[in-house]
Amino acid sequence: MFTLAFIAIGLMLWSCAKEESNPFFSEYDTPFGVPPFSKIKEEHFMPAFKEGMKQQKREIEAIINNPETPTFENTIEAMERSGALLTKVSDVFDNLTSANTNDNLQEIAKEVTPLLSGHNDDINLNPNLFERVKQVYDKKDEIALSGEQSALLEKYYKNFVRGGANLDPEKQKRFREINEQLSLFSLQFGENILKEDNAFELVIDNEEDLAGLPQSAVKGAAETASERGYEGKWVFTLHKPSLIPFLQYSEKRGLREKMFKGYINRGDNGNELDNKEILSKMAALRVERANLLGYKTHADFILDENMAKTPDRVYKLLDQLWVAALPIAKKEAKDMQEMIKSEGNDFKLEAWDWWYYSEKVKKARYDLDDAALRPYFKLENVRDGAFAVATNLYGITFEERPDLPVYHPDVKAFEVKEADGKHIGILYTDYFPRASKRGGAWMNAYRKQFRQDGKNITPVIANVCNFSKPTGDKPALLSFDEVETLFHEFGHALHGLLSNSTYHTISGTSVPRDFVELPSQIMENWASEPEVLKSYARHYETNEPIPDELIEKLENSGHFNQGFATVEYLAASFLDMDWHTLTEVKELDPVEFENNSLNKIGLIPEIVSRYRSPYFRHIFSGGYSSGYYSYIWAAVLDADAFEAFKENGLFDKKTALAFRENVLSKGGSDDPMTLYVKFRGAEPKIEPLLKRRGLN
Ligand SMILES: [Zn+2]
Repeated sequence: MFTLAFIAIGLMLWSCAKEESNPFFSEYDTPFGVPPFSKIKEEHFMPAFKEGMKQQKREIEAIINNPETPTFENTIEAMERSGALLTKVSDVFDNLTSANTNDNLQEIAKEVTPLLSGHNDDINLNPNLFERVKQVYDKKDEIALSGEQSALLEKYYKNFVRGGANLDPEKQKRFREINEQLSLFSLQFGENILKEDNAFELVIDNEEDLAGLPQSAVKGAAETASERGYEGKWVFTLHKPSLIPFLQYSEKRGLREKMFKGYINRGDNGNELDNKEILSKMAALRVERANLLGYKTHADFILDENMAKTPDRVYKLLDQLWVAALPIAKKEAKDMQEMIKSEGNDFKLEAWDWWYYSEKVKKARYDLDDAALRPYFKLENVRDGAFAVATNLYGITFEERPDLPVYHPDVKAFEVKEADGKHIGILYTDYFPRASKRGGAWMNAYRKQFRQDGKNITPVIANVCNFSKPTGDKPALLSFDEVETLFHEFGHALHGLLSNSTYHTISGTSVPRDFVELPSQIMENWASEPEVLKSYARHYETNEPIPDELIEKLENSGHFNQGFATVEYLAASFLDMDWHTLTEVKELDPVEFENNSLNKIGLIPEIVSRYRSPYFRHIFSGGYSSGYYSYIWAAVLDADAFEAFKENGLFDKKTALAFRENVLSKGGSDDPMTLYVKFRGAEPKIEPLLKRRGLN
């Protein structure tokens, strides 16, 4: 997953020491200007937000009151430079409320969110400002602009139009109300899930109930128990490192059901954390807003800016993949049902059995179990393996910098440099779960790359995940899924780090949603290449490289369970699209709607959509509404793009350079398809993806 900080326009380092004690009010006095985390206190945020908004308001007024004819420089670039303080405080705040939050920060978020939404609307709905932007836009063919400048102008103009600038005052008023309500609902939605995640616990006090679980899972549960005051017992939670091994290995079918239902009922428990009403209100507000702007549905509004362009094209891709994947998933279910029978049982396979039996089928068929692989995936080795891939491709290096400030003891800082030693940027890694962190894995920026008065402002990027922790005397040993996630988020990090953009607004990962997953997903390919595995996957005790036999098993099992994985994912993508292609949301029962949507495509009862609506954070609390399909859209791109490396060599310098120059460094400076074709020489084909997943 990838998150965008909310849009504050432009950034320029603000350097006037007004209030000595508030670190946001002076230039950061740290190496590379990273945030001085130990000096930033909760009470600094609100004053900095307020001052930041005040300053940007003044800067915007100055642009409007400029007596000169509007030009690209005195209007677009001037806007790009405005709001520096606001961006500075927002970047830190957004990162911390995701990765290391607490009740006080959440309170500040609730207080500041409507203020920011109003502030952004004040800019985006300002008729005089829009008039100036429009004048520049109308002259765009007569003035000489670089490719980057054209893209920036287009972005600003569209932002205004999409932000309601063309609406009459009455409609604008309603538009603002909708934005404000949506931002609050979205915050509430996410907060409810975080609380639901932390509230659930399965306490085991009878050792027999641990039957089948691997040692690491048992140890982790004992540690969680003692942290939560259940000395001598075991506690399992809905956090993935606890949940997944439980579903995979617990022999207690009833307990698996409890865990699974705990997970899929989040936000749907009829308590004060229930999200059903919130999400249907959000869906209704989104249609209303889309209609105000002249779009038929929210999906039409969103996709207009994406590579896919229309809902039809998204459905077309989803349908194509669904038809290929559903029969495979049904076959997988049948194999598991047979295994249940062969064990002398006569119950019907249920959704909470899927992980358990797929693990067994995998073991029987490929003699591969997750627990045998983990010793080869010590977190530090995997991380260094990902770094080494980047070094081999782009010549860049990573050096740990324990001297840099961090916001939590689990966080590590790395300096990233070019082959010739030139500084590129800073990468923070924050890999373990804790109650103050939301679920999932993501990349975000504490500072994006851009140029200011010709000077390169270097990026400060974070990778935040929820991986298996060290337990007892064992280091953190990852599952292969977690290995792929690490490579994935690292790919987003490279997109942010290798950005080479003049403008903040279109730099790094500021690209359409269905293009942003290309740099991340392509990295996952290297994680499983035998040549790469041999170098980083080393036994944590003996340092022996992973044996050929295990690599072969891993390769053979590559297509295993792909029917399930694809179907589970596609179901959630259809659900997202169905919610957002509604033309009307009136007295709708969200659960009924969801069931209808999934029945329509013929989802089998043994598989639950990867996200059910009440905890579908991507679409109701993140920025992926009508965009969850992006991952598979980008998978078509990444499978096709990786073919280029397979054709020319895994670490072919020329291919890597073309990828860096045309994709990683370009940000949103050009149309994604144009950039892709420049790299690949042709538009992407769907076949490499079908082949990779064994769906052809
Ligand atoms: Zn991602």
